[in-house]
Amino acid sequence: MVKIVKAESEIYSLSRKEDICTHIEKCGRICYKSENKISEETAIPFISGILKSGHESVTEHANVIFTLPKQAENMKILTMKDVRGLNISIEEDPLINKEVIVVSGNMRAFRDIARQYGIHDFLTSIGNPLFYIKAEAENSFIGLKLESVQNSRFSEMHNYLTTHTVCDLGAYKDITRHRLASFSIESTRYCNYSKGKFGSELTMIEPCNIEKPSEMYDEWLKCMESIEKSYMKMAELGGKGDQLRMLLPHSTKADMIMSANIVEWRHVFSLRCHSAAHPSVQLVMKKMLSKFYEIYPDFFEDLYNKFIKE
Ligand SMILES: Cc1cc2nc3c(=O)[nH]c(=O)nc-3n(C[C@H](O)[C@H](O)[C@H](O)COP(=O)(O)OP(=O)(O)OC[C@H]3O[C@@H](n4cnc5c(N)ncnc54)[C@H](O)[C@@H]3O)c2cc1C
Repeated sequence: MVKIVKAESEIYSLSRKEDICTHIEKCGRICYKSENKISEETAIPFISGILKSGHESVTEHANVIFTLPKQAENMKILTMKDVRGLNISIEEDPLINKEVIVVSGNMRAFRDIARQYGIHDFLTSIGNPLFYIKAEAENSFIGLKLESVQNSRFSEMHNYLTTHTVCDLGAYKDITRHRLASFSIESTRYCNYSKGKFGSELTMIEPCNIEKPSEMYDEWLKCMESIEKSYMKMAELGGKGDQLRMLLPHSTKADMIMSANIVEWRHVFSLRCHSAAHPSVQLVMKKMLSKFYEIYPDFFEDLYNKFIKE
């Protein structure tokens, strides 16, 4: 029997550098639906494995914010803006009423700076050898300071949010078009829903744009059940994940982790909470916007008023 669930969205918060590994593990295990394997000792081996395999995008879900004194020796960081996932600006620090260089980005970006420019200061300041490209390296900057993880007192570009969303494959396809965000998604290749781990059933998202009860809803359900029947039959015939997924419709449930800074989130909301976006996309994006507004009313008030309060 096909399982029908509602779309949902929650924030995965991260505020301490000590929690970076457990946060990354929690985000990464979504791909394999192996969250049940998480224990106190699993984060390091899990991340070592994904780093070795090249599945490095998972490390994009943890962001760190640094400051540097605004002085000549430190200005070279401005030439490194080409590193994807890195944000750099010169801003007034309200704590000292002085301009500073603010550098923020995800763990992957700091590993890329180390690889591309031979600059290891950021990784060594974070202090987790798991992410080091080289342990012993000379400092390239003067007065580098690790300020915070994910949230900061600086502008939108230096504040980040990670969310976990349960939505349909159609919504996931649309949302993952946003290139400046980072994503980890339940793999329809590695997850074989005929296995007991998945209850030997397919899970679909309740369509928000098909009225229930109605003849149209019954037709949709009949089709989902027929797809499930064929999926299980193909699995019985020896079908592998790669073959079985060819049957999955847009309504299939997808688990998605999405991380971005506030600038990109604002851009995504302005397009995806709009009435031109697909209703299933609008639904999850409006849920997120409401939650974000509670945390950052200043950053999201205009969009909240436009799309939610209206
Ligand atoms: C109502 C609607 C209908 C759509 N219909 C279709 C469709 O029929 N077919 C289809 O293929 N897509 C469609 N899309 C997807 C759309 O074209 C974009 O790919 C998607 O919305 C991502 O938005 P974006 O490009 O503005 O920004 P993001 O990818 O979120 O990037 C943010 C910003 O970064 C900049 N940026 C990022 N990457 C680049 C780059 N490579 N070059 C230059 N600037 C960059 C841009 O300024 C961009 O606004 C639709 C989107 C919407 C909202």
